[in-house]
Amino acid sequence: MAAIEHEAVALVLDCRDQGESDLIVTLFCRDLGRLTCIAKGAKRSKKRFVNKLELFSALQIRYRESRAGGLSLLADADLLESFLELRHQVPLYTVATVVRELMLMATKDMEGDDSLFDLVIWALRTLDSGRAPLNTLALFLIKFLDQIGYRPNFSTCAACETPITPGQSYSFSHSRGTILCTSCCDLRLRSTPPVSLGTIKMIRAVQDQPLNRLHRLHFSPTMCREGLHLLHRYTGRLFQRDIHSWKFLTLEPPAK
Ligand SMILES: [Zn+2]
Repeated sequence: MAAIEHEAVALVLDCRDQGESDLIVTLFCRDLGRLTCIAKGAKRSKKRFVNKLELFSALQIRYRESRAGGLSLLADADLLESFLELRHQVPLYTVATVVRELMLMATKDMEGDDSLFDLVIWALRTLDSGRAPLNTLALFLIKFLDQIGYRPNFSTCAACETPITPGQSYSFSHSRGTILCTSCCDLRLRSTPPVSLGTIKMIRAVQDQPLNRLHRLHFSPTMCREGLHLLHRYTGRLFQRDIHSWKFLTLEPPAK
């Protein structure tokens, strides 16, 4: 009996050689989540996969699940969106690469999540349209942490539970994923740079904004830098590893 063929809308997150003629493709699919497939003969095929298995391409795929529990077989793919600008403009490509690394870090095969799929497509479309790449990364990262269940707390001091108050100073605890007011900070946290009230309010606004209205929010360059630095440290701590592609971003060091 022939294996059943399935269809999915998918985004190419990774593609690497397997032997002389095959490719191993890591996809993130709507409904399914991450899916790793083998594309047999893809390196030789002139028709089936040419220009389709590029990083960041959105595809309509047909695939067959392996009966032995191995890799699924990628049977065919149609290109839906190629996000060409990402390949032509270095600042856009650099941010897209960070988005891709975060997706590979945070997802496992066959864990479906439509919201995460919509978010990553939103990020690539926004970048492809040439809008401020670092602002797009900050918006993506805040929503991404929410989607994977690690929303940092920017609403109240985690120790005294006092809501954010103008005039008060705050620091962000990367290990706890929360802000603390000056009165509650221990000595170790006092040595970390404070988080400005503007950045705190902006991050909260992004957390509360639905995806279809996210493009309305713009960090000032200073807030964007501050927000990205603290979210980067928090995310690295969460996954207990570096985000390797982060070092290619053109991002000034945090203010002293
Ligand atoms: Zn406090």
